[in-house]
Amino acid sequence: MLMPVTKTDRLGVMSLFWCYGVAMTNRYTHLKDLFEACKTKEVEDSAPEPEEQSGDSSDDGEASGESEMDFLRNLFSKTLGISGEKVLDELTLEGVARYIQSGACKNIICMVGAGISTSAGIPDFRSPETGLYANLQKYNLPYPEAIFQIDYFKKHPEPFFALARELYPGLFKPTVCHYFIKLLKDKGLLKRCYSQNIDTLERVAGLESEDLIEAHGTFYSSHCVSFMCRSEYSMDWMKVKIFSDDIPKCEKCNSLVKPDIVFFGENLPKRFFTSMAMDFPRCDLLIIMGTSLQVQPFAALVGRVSKSCPRLLINLEKAGGADPLLGMIGLGGGMDFDSEKAYRDVAHISTCDDGCLALADLLGWKAELEEMVKREHEKIDSKAKEEQANQSAVATGKAETGKAETGKTKAE
Ligand SMILES: [Zn+2]
Repeated sequence: MLMPVTKTDRLGVMSLFWCYGVAMTNRYTHLKDLFEACKTKEVEDSAPEPEEQSGDSSDDGEASGESEMDFLRNLFSKTLGISGEKVLDELTLEGVARYIQSGACKNIICMVGAGISTSAGIPDFRSPETGLYANLQKYNLPYPEAIFQIDYFKKHPEPFFALARELYPGLFKPTVCHYFIKLLKDKGLLKRCYSQNIDTLERVAGLESEDLIEAHGTFYSSHCVSFMCRSEYSMDWMKVKIFSDDIPKCEKCNSLVKPDIVFFGENLPKRFFTSMAMDFPRCDLLIIMGTSLQVQPFAALVGRVSKSCPRLLINLEKAGGADPLLGMIGLGGGMDFDSEKAYRDVAHISTCDDGCLALADLLGWKAELEEMVKREHEKIDSKAKEEQANQSAVATGKAETGKAETGKTKAE
């Protein structure tokens, strides 16, 4: 029998376990990857990025020279503790808006966490009292985290798929904040969005694979777990399997197929590390939303931008103070909103939706953003209605066929 727990609660606990697990089991293993990324950084940075044009009217010359300079500047400032130049005229949302409007800010990176999806009905996984440990008892797990442990999953996939069935993504609409990120893309300002979320709402809002780094994976695609095979399967394929009570098996080799979410004991996607090394030195503005910056290696990304790059946090509380361990090895780069030395970090304490609306207002984009949210939500609603209508039409059709057949039998 089901425990009296809502769907969103279950999604909450899944996220909790993923993120907690990623935090605990990957914290130190990923430090190694981080070092690898640092080591290859110089080489990668000096290679011009294909999407950047050499004909750019930038006053600093070639992209390669610029990147090398950025790298050296970062390295020296990290080593010597030199702070960067002050770019914002004021450490406020208004200051950030003026910077965006100045034209000097061309590459914005967004880093987002569960807080951007709470207004969609998906609770912040750090919210206490979700009561979800209790819900997991019905699966007779040796311990609750086992449901997301890759070794346990390979032997006992049933609990995971039973839970996945109950909380499959697709019932939620992207938030104002998701559409604000889409608006940044439409304005040609979005370099990349780094997300910790697995709810796929960034994609629903219109971001494409190339715009997005899903650091903790996604339900959007699935792969065969066999290292020899690794066949890819779509979200639709997985959905059919999950809702037909089937354990998804590879059509080529009959191994298990798992959604591409990062389980405990699994590495973060390779693209996370390669893109990180390419993107962050080129970032002109970092916007961090809806994350308490406690999960590594994600949280350490804030220290990967240049010392002069302004960082805006939109969150319900301040976050991202220096991690003592990472600080010691030069990867700290913690946020500084309030000290006398503060020169580039801005904290806007609000919900992500309110913060994005306020920023959009300052930029003169508010009406456009609200129109986008309205239009896109209407689209999603009408699509859902259509699907519902189709389903009931199929049901009615079956019933009518049944009636007709009954009538025919009677007539005979
Ligand atoms: Zn396979």
